[in-house]
Amino acid sequence: DPGLLTLPDALQPLGIIHTPYKQKFAIPRQPGLVKEAVGEIYFFAPFNDINCFRGIEQFSHLWILFQFHQTLNKGWKPTVRPPRLGGNQRVGVFASRSTHRPNGIGLSVVEFESLSSHQGQVCLKVKGVDLLDGTPIIDIKPYLPYADAHPNAVGGFASDLPSSVAVRFSPAALTQLQQFSDDPQKMKNLIESVLQQDPRPAYKASQSGPQAFAICLDNLNIHWQSVENSIEVTGIEVICA
Ligand code: SAM
Repeated sequence: DPGLLTLPDALQPLGIIHTPYKQKFAIPRQPGLVKEAVGEIYFFAPFNDINCFRGIEQFSHLWILFQFHQTLNKGWKPTVRPPRLGGNQRVGVFASRSTHRPNGIGLSVVEFESLSSHQGQVCLKVKGVDLLDGTPIIDIKPYLPYADAHPNAVGGFASDLPSSVAVRFSPAALTQLQQFSDDPQKMKNLIESVLQQDPRPAYKASQSGPQAFAICLDNLNIHWQSVENSIEVTGIEVICA
C-alpha cells in the first residue's frame, strides 16, 4: 500500500545553481559534454555551512540531484520520445533520462572545481553542467569510481557519444566577442562546445537550406546559422541581464 510509505511533503532545496544556460534551448543533453560550462551552487540555511562540505575537495567528481523546475508543471507520461531516437520512437519513461518524469528529479555527475566561503556565503563550483540557470539543487554526493564507474556498461539506444558538428565564427562575431566578453577566449570555447552538440531540433536538422537560431549564454545572445552539416556564429550582442 503506497499510502503507508511516508515521504516529505516537499523536498527542501539545498540551494540554487547559477549556470551560463539562461534557457533550455541548446543545453547539452547530459553532463560532461560541454566541459567548459561552470555552475556555481549557492546554499540556503541551514545548508549554508562550510561544515556540511568538509572533505568534499578530496573528490574529483560529484553527483548532483536537482529538480527539473521548469518542466515540473508539464507532468509525465509512461512513454517518451528521446531526441537520440530522432524524436519519433517511444521508450518507457524509466528507460530514458527525460525531464518529464514522476517527481521531476534530475541526476548529473559533474567535476568538482572549488569550494569557497565569502562573507558567510558558501559557493561550490562545478564543471560540465547540463542544468538551467536557477535550478534548485536537492542533494550532493561524492562520485565513487570503485562503485560508480562501469567501463563495460552497455548504453542501449544512447551508447555512442552524440555526433558533433564543425563550428566557425564570422569575422563580425569574433570582433563582437572581443568587445562584449570579459574573457573572449573562454567564451569562444564555451560557445564552440555548446554548438558542436548541434542543438537544432531533430525536425529542423532534417530540413535543407540555411536556418537561423539564437541562444543565450551568460549575458550574451549568440546568433548562429546551420549550413549543411556545420554551424556558423554570425553575430553576438549583449542582451541578457
Ligand atoms: N543529466 C540529467 C539527468 O539525467 O537526469 C539531465 C538530463 S536531461 C535529458 C538534460 C536536459 O534537461 C537539458 O538539455 C535541459 O534542456 C533540461 N534541463 C536542465 N535543467 C532543467 C530544469 N531546471 N528544468 C527543466 N529542464 C531542465
